[in-house]
Amino acid sequence: MSTLSKRINSLSESATLKMTKLGRELSAKGVNVISLSVGEPDFNTPDHVKNAAKKALDENYTRYSPVPGYPELRQAIANKLKTENNLDYDASQIVVSTGAKQSLSNVILTLIDPDDEVIIPTPYWVSYSEMVTLAEGKSVFINTDLESNFKITATQLEAAITPKTKLFMFSSPCNPTGSVYNREELASLAKVFEKHPNIFILSDEIYEHINFVDKHESIAQFESIKDRVIIVNGFSKAFAMTGWRLGYIAANKEIAAANDKLQGQTTSGTCSIAQRAGIVAYEQGLESVLEMKKAFLRRRELVYNLLNEIPGVKTNLPDGAFYFFPEISSFFGKKDADGNVIKDSSDLSLYLLNVGHVATVGGDSFGNNNYIRLSYAASDESLVEALKRIKEALAKLN
Ligand code: PLP
Repeated sequence: MSTLSKRINSLSESATLKMTKLGRELSAKGVNVISLSVGEPDFNTPDHVKNAAKKALDENYTRYSPVPGYPELRQAIANKLKTENNLDYDASQIVVSTGAKQSLSNVILTLIDPDDEVIIPTPYWVSYSEMVTLAEGKSVFINTDLESNFKITATQLEAAITPKTKLFMFSSPCNPTGSVYNREELASLAKVFEKHPNIFILSDEIYEHINFVDKHESIAQFESIKDRVIIVNGFSKAFAMTGWRLGYIAANKEIAAANDKLQGQTTSGTCSIAQRAGIVAYEQGLESVLEMKKAFLRRRELVYNLLNEIPGVKTNLPDGAFYFFPEISSFFGKKDADGNVIKDSSDLSLYLLNVGHVATVGGDSFGNNNYIRLSYAASDESLVEALKRIKEALAKLN
């Protein structure tokens, strides 16, 4: 009998965390590695949020919190959904968790039985399909590419639906592509879901505030399907609060109560101090987010221009988030100085780490092997240097 369960053996290690770990190991050996592998803003949490946490400590918010979150935080989230997104949710429909990652996992464990199908457009965030595997569901992928700006159409969605489809999950703005669905595109997907009343929609909106084109649009705005939409969002990206572990869902009452029950038997409520700080983050508005967005916008232009100067690399201009997902398949089949063949995007990403000393992530982990993901949440100088190194390393392949 094997020591570890079939469930854990079926899981892959997170590719983004793995590349970050490899980059750190190389740095520890004294190599100057530039990390473009990690999905986190390179900014500090705003002072007013940090001060709220200090105050929470002084006021002894140090005990177990209610499992779905403090009522004031759930209310602040409901208020945010109304004022920023024009969506009506009661505080009882909000469940706060240890990051959007736990919220996603909670929802999947709440809805998915063995063999239920979950439709996921590729490329997708690395953990989606692994979470489905953990719930013993089956991921059904809809492939997209650079030409379609990494977005699916209603026709593709319709074709992927079977009687076993239980859930559709996607992120907009998207990690890893930065693609953003506009209102019309979401409306056309919503029309398909109207015809299939048993399908739920998991809408990951964690990059909501890093959107360079339009105002953020949520698929929950379509009343005909709203009851079946579960919004996932959180504080990690908008408020540079990745380490605080604070995310949430907004869902119908049955799903919210089920998430509460699941969390009550697994993690309990998330960190009391982070929650108090979250209330202040939402109540005091988006000024710090707008500053951060300005920097991302500038870096997006910078990286776009530099990527376009690299022979063999193709890219689009992402509409949101802080990633590029360039096409790099022209390097497959080429050899490094030791004669090793680059077979896939993971090989290329490892090659860029070992030879160029830049950490990226192979697109195969996001479900599209012809690409790699670069995060541009790094200083302008690091980005310029990283792109120079990538260009030089790629030029050495033949
Ligand atoms: N969803 C997407 C698309 C992400 O990129 C991430 C983090 O990288 C998460 C969810 C998880 O965010 P959190 O830090 O709130 O767990």
